[in-house]
Amino acid sequence: MLDKTRTMLDTPVAHRMPREIAPGVFWIGDCLAQHHKGKVYHGYNAAFLIAGENASCLVETGHPKDFPVIERHMNELFARGLPPLKYLFVTHQETPHCGGLGRVLKTFPDALLCGDVSDYHLAFPQYEHRMRWMKEGDEIDLGGRSLMAVEPVIRDLRTTWWGFDTKERVLFPGDGFAYSHYHEDGHCGLVAEEAVSLDLPDVSSTFADLALFWTKFADMNVYCDRLDQLIERLNVKVIAPTHGLPITDVKTTVPKVQEGLKQAALMPESGTNEKVAPAGAAAPAA
Ligand SMILES: [Zn+2]
Ligand SMILES: [Zn+2]
Repeated sequence: MLDKTRTMLDTPVAHRMPREIAPGVFWIGDCLAQHHKGKVYHGYNAAFLIAGENASCLVETGHPKDFPVIERHMNELFARGLPPLKYLFVTHQETPHCGGLGRVLKTFPDALLCGDVSDYHLAFPQYEHRMRWMKEGDEIDLGGRSLMAVEPVIRDLRTTWWGFDTKERVLFPGDGFAYSHYHEDGHCGLVAEEAVSLDLPDVSSTFADLALFWTKFADMNVYCDRLDQLIERLNVKVIAPTHGLPITDVKTTVPKVQEGLKQAALMPESGTNEKVAPAGAAAPAA
């Protein structure tokens, strides 16, 4: 675990990002507020920049609204001397993960898009020649480290790959380890272990309920066991989820998230975000 806890808790939220969560791995992006059952949940649609010796790779692009923040964070990091952006790896074809893809490819004309690249050429035919397929075990060499495509145990779409940084052993699990955080408690920009008032099982089960409906119909014990096997096989040290806070103490924190997944599987689906009544319609009774 990085020994930056005290300084980060003393840092105003706006100045916490970009944040180096492992040597050469930077957390960038912004939160998104969502309303559910009368509460405001904050979630990340994060991106991460991995710096090798001669190339950098962006993992995920953030939500479409986040591109100005992502671009600013990346430029800050490049100004500090990080090598140029040569690769963009996105875990899957969903807006919070790849919504900035066209703008990243336009802004960084040397960058190649890597991963399961199904369908992107239909939206961006002008960039088709810059798309590269990856399958499990394929690696992108960044110089001194590489990003490998690994088994996506908890996923949204069948086209998902998870990423893994071979040097600092950071796992990029896309929709795995998805949970919201409490803005009021100042959790934005903190790693999971610093957000001590965050009820991880609760926010994990809420997110699974809203975003990963299939977890209601699967035996999540099997998925959690498989997750444990992957973490052990890869010797994962840090987890960098797209929607959750980064996890820097895998042994302590992963079981709490798994508890939430198992809880969510036992509850009936509550539906998606709060319905807003059309203008002029009577407000719902409850
Ligand atoms: Zn997602
Ligand atoms: Zn937040």
